[in-house]
Amino acid sequence: MKTKIVSYGTASSETAGMNGTQSGDTLGREPVRITRRGGGSPFVLLCDHASNWLPASFGTLGLAGSDMTRHIAWDPGALPVASLMAEALDAPLVESGVSRLLIDCNRPLDAHDLIPAVSETTEIPANAGLSPKEREERIALSWTPFHNAIEAVVEERLAHRQPTVLVSIHSFTPVYGGKSRPWEIGIIHDDDRRVADPLVAALREVPGLTVGVNEPYSPADRVYFTLERHARSRGLPCAMIEIRNDEIADAAGQGKWADLLGGMFSRLEPLLSGAAETGQPAA
Ligand SMILES: [Zn+2]
Repeated sequence: MKTKIVSYGTASSETAGMNGTQSGDTLGREPVRITRRGGGSPFVLLCDHASNWLPASFGTLGLAGSDMTRHIAWDPGALPVASLMAEALDAPLVESGVSRLLIDCNRPLDAHDLIPAVSETTEIPANAGLSPKEREERIALSWTPFHNAIEAVVEERLAHRQPTVLVSIHSFTPVYGGKSRPWEIGIIHDDDRRVADPLVAALREVPGLTVGVNEPYSPADRVYFTLERHARSRGLPCAMIEIRNDEIADAAGQGKWADLLGGMFSRLEPLLSGAAETGQPAA
């Protein structure tokens, strides 16, 4: 199935449909979108929290409509940055098209916050007391298509012996639980530091930047799931980028960060390509 989602406004895209039980047409929108699938870059960019969209049948999950534009529903600014980087690098981009409030694609299926009944301090009425059937429906609607799409892209590249490095792009709110967060950007990694170390070193050379390392989150918060599932399981290099969302609230900020990170990633390519091709385990 090939559909173009006009509202995102990026060229050369395709979308992956659902797994048989429902088609994208019944939703009016596809749950996942793959852009630049054949891109030549070693980097594959992922955007788990790209969208605040919900299928109409879910309404606003009992929330005020204005809650759907807050960080609890998605990662504001993350998708434009990821799209600009993908374009500059000629990198594939896989993005979820459904709000994390319906189900969080960056969580294992047994995570307590897979379908959060409370996000930060906001109760999500329609997420309380779900039946197993309702839970399965959400998994099939968003989580499975997203992970199937990443799986397909990665397998395709490995079959062609294409160097593959997975990088996920997220954004975080400047204040969480009443606490201000000083970092403009955070790099999240586990004990495979092949991407994180040179990236953090490059970011620390930028004057005036406060760089978080495993801040504001770390893999211990179970936020590293998508990368564990698709990169770490195969020995592929990976890292997670978190940008504070006030930095990327408008096109100027998004462009600035995409340029900065895109340039750094270009310079990282030769360093990572060899290790990525065969999926060498981390040292
Ligand atoms: Zn996120």
